[in-house]
Amino acid sequence: MSEPGSDSVSEDDTASAERVAELSDALDATRERLAAAARDAGRDPDDVELLVVTKFHPASDVVALLELGCRAFGESREPEAGRKAAAVRARSERPVRFDMIGTVQRRKATSVARWADLVQSVDRESIVDALARGVEQARDDGDRETDLDVLIQINLDGDTGRGGVVVDDLEALADHVAETDGLRLRGSMVIAPQTHTPGYWMEQAAAHHARLTAAHPDAVEFSAGMSGDLEDAVRHGSTCVRVGTAILGERPLRSP
Ligand SMILES: *Cc1c(COP(=O)(O)O)cnc(C)c1O
Repeated sequence: MSEPGSDSVSEDDTASAERVAELSDALDATRERLAAAARDAGRDPDDVELLVVTKFHPASDVVALLELGCRAFGESREPEAGRKAAAVRARSERPVRFDMIGTVQRRKATSVARWADLVQSVDRESIVDALARGVEQARDDGDRETDLDVLIQINLDGDTGRGGVVVDDLEALADHVAETDGLRLRGSMVIAPQTHTPGYWMEQAAAHHARLTAAHPDAVEFSAGMSGDLEDAVRHGSTCVRVGTAILGERPLRSP
């Protein structure tokens, strides 16, 4: 076990049978909820990916969820994320994808480029450039082979404290990503602010996403919806819901 407050990921721990049962029940309930949301929206449930957000939860939970059929996980900060991704990949042969969904700090861009399959939270040119340098470095070091897929995080209400590019700057940032070697622009990501209903924000988000896709036809991924608002997001076209609390429970205060 790691000491409380240390940010090492204990690689040898295995989830207890009780924890696996708890995760399994919550995962089933979330899958049913997602399928119902898709049906209500007249959409194919297979068109909406479930990204399980495992930030602050231990690698043992990720391995358990991988065994339960989950394939894609979201993490939000270094160095917890990189260590956990390495621990999981060392312990399971199953194909697994890790997405960075938290604000990327410039000095950590290279470490993110070593483990992330997709960065969902690109919101400024300096981060685009830092990630591109990180991809090159990771390639030189033999830590990655492919280009890095990115989504642009769109800030819906102009309160940039939670990250995201303001809507007026979306087009310029998208063009910059598209011109950058080593990165592939795949779409957009949003977090609905607490003001107004989720439906209101998801409608706005879908309009901005449509604007992005009109200019960049490959940028079709629309990451929207979390534990509290996935139904609204699916109704407005989300292709990826990011669910943490509904599957893993409340997050521990400290990183494992
Ligand atoms: C933590 C987080 C989530 C998951 O939120 P829940 O409410 O726990 O489902 C989704 N997206 C982002 C960007 C997050 O940081």
